[in-house]
Amino acid sequence: MAETAFHTLSVDEALAALDSSAQGLSSHEAEQRLALHGPNDLVAAKPRSRLAILLSQFKDLLVVVLILAGVISFGLAIVEDSWENFRSGVIIFLIVVIDAILGFDQEYKASQIVRKLHSLILSPSRAIRDGMLKEIPLQSLVPGDVVRIEEGDKIQADLRIIEAGNLRTNEFSLTGESMPVGKMTDRLADDLTLGDRRNMAFAGTTVASGSGLGVTTHTGMNTELGKIASMAEETMEVSSPLQDELNVLAMRLTVVVVVICGGILALALWLGLDWLVVVTYALGVAVACVPQALPAQLTVALATASKHLAAKNAVVKSLPTVETLGSTNVICTDKTGTVTRNEMTVTRAWVNGRDLVFTGVGYRPEGEVLDTGETPVPEQDIRKMSLFFRAATLASAGTVHPPDEFHQGWYAVGDPTEAALVVMSMKAGIFDSGEGEEFSELRCFPFDSVRKRMSSIRRFPEGPLVVLKGATDQVLDVCGFTLRDGEVRPVTQTDKERIRDRNVAFSVQALRVLAVAYRPLDSAPEPLSPEEAERDMIFLGLVGMIDPPRSGVREAMGKCHGAGIDIYMITGDHAATAEAIANDIGLARAREHMRVVRGKEMEGLSDEELSDMMREHSALVFSRMDPVHKLRVVRLLGDLGRVVAVTGDGINDAPALKRAHIGVAMGRTGVDVAKETAEVVLLDDNFSTLVDAVEEGRGIYSNIRKVVLASLTANIAELLAVLLGLAGMAMGNYAIPILTIQILAIDLMAEILPLTFLCFDPPTPEDMQRPPRDRDEHILNFATGLEVGFLGALMGVLAVANFFFYIYRHDLTLGPDAIGTLEYARASAMTWLTMAYCQFVNILSCRYRNTTIFNRNILTNRVLLASVIISAVLTIVAVHAPGIDRFLEFAPIGARDWLHVLGAAAVFLAVWEGTKWRRRILSRSGGKHR
Ligand code: ADP
Ligand code: MG
Repeated sequence: MAETAFHTLSVDEALAALDSSAQGLSSHEAEQRLALHGPNDLVAAKPRSRLAILLSQFKDLLVVVLILAGVISFGLAIVEDSWENFRSGVIIFLIVVIDAILGFDQEYKASQIVRKLHSLILSPSRAIRDGMLKEIPLQSLVPGDVVRIEEGDKIQADLRIIEAGNLRTNEFSLTGESMPVGKMTDRLADDLTLGDRRNMAFAGTTVASGSGLGVTTHTGMNTELGKIASMAEETMEVSSPLQDELNVLAMRLTVVVVVICGGILALALWLGLDWLVVVTYALGVAVACVPQALPAQLTVALATASKHLAAKNAVVKSLPTVETLGSTNVICTDKTGTVTRNEMTVTRAWVNGRDLVFTGVGYRPEGEVLDTGETPVPEQDIRKMSLFFRAATLASAGTVHPPDEFHQGWYAVGDPTEAALVVMSMKAGIFDSGEGEEFSELRCFPFDSVRKRMSSIRRFPEGPLVVLKGATDQVLDVCGFTLRDGEVRPVTQTDKERIRDRNVAFSVQALRVLAVAYRPLDSAPEPLSPEEAERDMIFLGLVGMIDPPRSGVREAMGKCHGAGIDIYMITGDHAATAEAIANDIGLARAREHMRVVRGKEMEGLSDEELSDMMREHSALVFSRMDPVHKLRVVRLLGDLGRVVAVTGDGINDAPALKRAHIGVAMGRTGVDVAKETAEVVLLDDNFSTLVDAVEEGRGIYSNIRKVVLASLTANIAELLAVLLGLAGMAMGNYAIPILTIQILAIDLMAEILPLTFLCFDPPTPEDMQRPPRDRDEHILNFATGLEVGFLGALMGVLAVANFFFYIYRHDLTLGPDAIGTLEYARASAMTWLTMAYCQFVNILSCRYRNTTIFNRNILTNRVLLASVIISAVLTIVAVHAPGIDRFLEFAPIGARDWLHVLGAAAVFLAVWEGTKWRRRILSRSGGKHR
């Protein structure tokens, strides 16, 4: 079968060659073919190789500095034949290896998750099985399946087109052709390139406009795309603002290190020390000043967040996006499907001046038609309205289906708005699918969000009819007549006012309203454009459908308010409906005014006026919007310097999605093109999920911030200990309080684990209670610099104090030549342990800025707690385990000495708690954020 050139066959020949028909396959046949051909898997894209991921761990500046230091250490060890330098080298490389393993492990796991999720965001296929259009998982598509494709779809297998209505596809990804290619059904010549086979549509290309039917010729790796087999390798972008910032930080630290080392060298040479010893010191200090594990920790933080997000139904295509999400300060959200459930149920109608009420829920076509007085409407009355019901459903393409193997209840295929109309007509007992000869479709002008109408030309027994439905104003624009009591009359201004009143009456009840109209055609010239078809229409009535808000959206709105995020709702729906829903979900903050802007009104506003409005209002509802309007809103917000997340589902939304900082596509209702453009896909289409994602993004930023600041605190302490030691040596001939190798041991034994698991901190409520972060704000700024400087100095002073206190208590004299003696080993263990325990306190304390650590919160990150305990055990091992203590130049200390270590840590904790207490008082007495 593979050799058949399907483009050279006629439609019938192609169907015959595939042993199929225009009615598609039976499920039984499809099952057998699936076993034969295998699943339609195109996600066989090559994953990033493990080696590539591993190698990428070594390209960060900090790691390079580290490796360089290790090499120099080994070099010195050889030149000088020094055991100490050799040990430093070993430890440095141990740190490098641990970093690499950590980073690799996290990045590899994250890439696996991203791959799995990628296959989740693809839409199901619409295939004809057992004579009915069904939604099937795209993996189960087989050759011979007849599938329906529509604007915005990504084509999922190679197809021979058997029906084309204005069908055009984008084939850039396959052929490089940048203009949409028109499709047809005719047989073509043999010697054509892929781009010229215009009766075929290929997997991986997208439908630019129109719709059509195609019979599947090849699936999976047998498709043209599969043959190329080099689908874009899945890469994980690595450059994000935060990563850039860390690079800058790394660069600055390196400079600081070089300067300080230069200073130490100069000082030591001036004091007349052996230069080799000095180089060793300077090198060790340099290494100790740099937060070595930071790059790996950033990866851990990002990967953890994307794991959390996946569990919450948000697919983030690249890790750095998570972090941008955290700085979002305005969300532009759709209404239908995002804040509402997009499960439409018609509850009201207004036909021939009469109000109807429908009972029943969901798409199950069971329910009654009642008067407003709740009495059933007699059947003969309903029959008089049959044209209204017919027109409503025949102007639709959506369908409803009974429960099947993939769905638990009745479900809609196609537009839920249209499916709701079908259900309505089924409840009224007047429903024709238009599948047969009667009411068959001659032409269709599908809905678009600019026209806001949809019409179809159908064969009625009395001749062809245009049936039309759409937004009331847009339908009235093309209505010249109205049908009253079976009589067609010109529509008067009063009629229009009555209709509009009714429309508003429905809308304020949060109903989505559609108007229905028709027009008989004199069979002669068939209208070719929507403009020709949709004119002089006869108004039939109105339909009102509910679309309840999603549960949890109210809470999510509240979170946004607390987090200082503005919310703009952008909808094509009527202002009154939009406003009613917005009030329902609490779009505006309490006591704050919500402004509703209509599409027409917006056209009259200049960019400045609109920008002013955006500056003034934190809650805006844009109603009757076109995609162009949406793009304008996003563009202006960007110009105002806001970080914008915008949701979208249609093909027309793609420009806005691209333009925004974060494009968010709907996983269920979104067309493939939107999902491809977006950075984030919400698998459940839910606004709350987006807010969760923002929260996760903020959590990540504050975690990284904590890690950076905590490791810098220890670095400052270490540096101070060395500088004080040098001063002590210069002035009183004291030995240095801590050795290079011991500084490295702090990183390796006391810091790496807790700092890494600090990244596992779940987002705290505090994260969503402060205004969005300024994108220009740096982690290390004046305020944090002061804080870190203070804490680091305190830590360093406490550690050095314990060293000298030990000397004083035991009445020792320890000069530089004492290094290597038992007493020196004990005294430097005091410095080392004090620093390590202060750092444990520091790590546990920095998790919450205002809340004491004597709180149940301490249990929200149990891995961190465990890692601190493990590290504490390691410090005991370092000092007390025979062999290891010698390696690190330590010796066991006594119980009283331990009390001094813990005492210093307690002082450090008291200072932390004191500052938190002060902050709490300040914030209670009405102080602003923080
Ligand atoms: P949104 O998705 O923001 O709710 P839409 O652009 O989908 O808005 O719809 C705008 C208006 O167009 C609706 O209020 C409704 O009256 C009308 N409409 C929506 N869907 C259809 C459809 N399939 N056919 C005809 N009219 C529709
Ligand atoms: Mg819509």
